[in-house]
Amino acid sequence: MNHLKLAVLFLAMTMCLALAAGDQGTAAGDANPFFSPYKTPLNTPPFDLIKNEHFLPAIKEGIRQQQVEIEAIVNNPAAPDFANTLGALDASGRLLSEVNAVFGALQGADTSPAIQSIAKETTPLIAAHGDNIRLNEKLFARVKSVYDQRAKLKLTSEEQFLLQNTYRDFVRGGALLDEKQKVRLRELNQQLAMLSLRFGDNLLAETNDFKLALENRDDLAGLPPSVAAMAEGTAGQLKMPGQWVFTVQVPSMTPFLQYSTRRDLREKIYRAYTMRGDRGNDRDNKDIVRGIVNLRCEKAKLLGYDSHAAFVLETNMAKVPAAVDAFLKRLWDPALERAKRETADMQVIIDREGGKFKLAPWDWWHYAEKVRQEKYALDDTALRPYFKLENVRQGIFSLCEKLYGLKFSERRDIPVYNPEVQVFEVHEADGRYVGVLYMDFHPRPSKRGGAWSGSFRRESYEKGRRVAPLSTITCNFTRSTADAPSLLSVEEAKTFAHEFGHSLATLLSDGIYRSRSVPRDAVELPSQIMENWMLEPELLTSYAKHYQTGAVIPAELVQKLQNSSLFNQGFETVEYLAASILDMKWHELTQPQPGLGVDEFETRAMTGLGLIPEIVPRYRSTYFNHIFSGGYSAGYYVYIWAEQLDADAFEAFKEKGLFDKATALSFRKNVLEKYGALELMPQYVAFRGAEPKIEPLLKRRGLMK
Ligand SMILES: [Zn+2]
Repeated sequence: MNHLKLAVLFLAMTMCLALAAGDQGTAAGDANPFFSPYKTPLNTPPFDLIKNEHFLPAIKEGIRQQQVEIEAIVNNPAAPDFANTLGALDASGRLLSEVNAVFGALQGADTSPAIQSIAKETTPLIAAHGDNIRLNEKLFARVKSVYDQRAKLKLTSEEQFLLQNTYRDFVRGGALLDEKQKVRLRELNQQLAMLSLRFGDNLLAETNDFKLALENRDDLAGLPPSVAAMAEGTAGQLKMPGQWVFTVQVPSMTPFLQYSTRRDLREKIYRAYTMRGDRGNDRDNKDIVRGIVNLRCEKAKLLGYDSHAAFVLETNMAKVPAAVDAFLKRLWDPALERAKRETADMQVIIDREGGKFKLAPWDWWHYAEKVRQEKYALDDTALRPYFKLENVRQGIFSLCEKLYGLKFSERRDIPVYNPEVQVFEVHEADGRYVGVLYMDFHPRPSKRGGAWSGSFRRESYEKGRRVAPLSTITCNFTRSTADAPSLLSVEEAKTFAHEFGHSLATLLSDGIYRSRSVPRDAVELPSQIMENWMLEPELLTSYAKHYQTGAVIPAELVQKLQNSSLFNQGFETVEYLAASILDMKWHELTQPQPGLGVDEFETRAMTGLGLIPEIVPRYRSTYFNHIFSGGYSAGYYVYIWAEQLDADAFEAFKEKGLFDKATALSFRKNVLEKYGALELMPQYVAFRGAEPKIEPLLKRRGLMK
């Protein structure tokens, strides 16, 4: 999950003068802790003093201060240069970022009705403030002036990177368009926002519309009691007593597909799932899909790009659509072959059981589960005792010490927003102070789901001195009980390492400027690479010890864990790639096509690929929320692209030794320290000696011949 802001170029922004004078006085009388230097250890946020009523005035004051700072940049009588324009813009808005970071963290990890209502007030203020900076023509004129002289300015590579990204963000927002074009761009943005909203609303209504309501126990054939109980609970919530209800929400549908022996019912629910938004009713999404792709195409052309995909990919590591297409195609052929073998394995089971039918898409989960039990059986309850939270934490700490020499020491005197939060001060091997890490492990009603890494303060330099980062990890891990400490599942242990990797990139970061720009397809490199170590026997045996006996995890369990990573990989890769390729096809249109048939387009794309009838793309167009309602258009591929990066980077450690200091130092210096502060590909090449190769990923997914 993410975590890092993607392109944090404009930390805050502009000239909403209406806000200025009046509001800042409100909290001036009582001591708002954001308005004076903190008297806390390591200059950490004074959570013991911060009260909800401090946020709104502090955010308003932060906006006002940045407005003044931007005005000063714009009205500077001196000719624009790097320091008085780019440097000054980067340095502006410190108070706003600080308050926002603290407030944002609480919104996720420790919210309340009060926090939610403050957010309703501050969100539009901050959005308008950001727009005002992006649309400030005088500011852009100064940035452009510096950009136009860049060849003779003798800038450092970090300065060049900041200049290029800042300029590019203005241009991508339409800064170079004439007035008429700007008007059209605003119309397109508005229409797109409306269509995306409608797409999402329709999908929600379609998803909620279908219910598989079962009234007879016979209909529950094959379901474990826990799955039946869940369906009974759903029926209760829906006021349908005496029934068992399954929905087309994935957590409800998947166990049904996995365990139900009622093939007719599996077909019924699966068809309902795959036909969402494609039923010709008033919530049909086909016209909206066509509208969105055509408007995106027009917008890209207006801004000077061949296609929407070309526009999106410009800021990614892949750079151009052809690079993504070639990458996906390299994976596609071996993945399809593996999926065909998986189909054959499952058909053997069907035939052996005397089922006289050919495997269909709604059968896949059911027979894959049988394969899993036969070939890869892993018992979660046998594994958990080896993954006590404190042991896993110690395993990660010692990994960081082995790789980077880092030391973690607990601080109980640093104020926290909730008593459950643990705080660690991080030091280099030679004792130099690195930063602070806050960890908040368990679910609370005030915390949103999932796991993420964030920060209260990002690293930068202020007047030549390093500002130390304050990083956070927030999770929802299994709690301890009266009988046992917190015992993690293997997935949870990997999630912990994943988020820790994001935090390491924050803590070890060593960029001069506060603005960072991480390509979306590389955001998951520092996090995913950390997951690799967790199940390597060399590390595993050092931390995975039984919480009662202290015995090291048995070799047989380790072997099973490693085997299980190959289970169902053909299917998972194919259904994911099919959706990624569909996404690219939609967004590589180079001309709007008003008469386009959505189903026909999709069918043609999938037939062209040779997709087998037993598999449906993970998302069909009419319910592909990521690309038509979320922010992942021409970007669904990023997950597997990042996996290529982490697999290739980890290969360096496999070649030189899992804890090889020189390899770790190179990864740290080239990748982690300059992450988002310099162009990533050259940094990656400096670490690896070459651009990332696909083979380690193929090997990991069992796709090598
Ligand atoms: Zn992540």
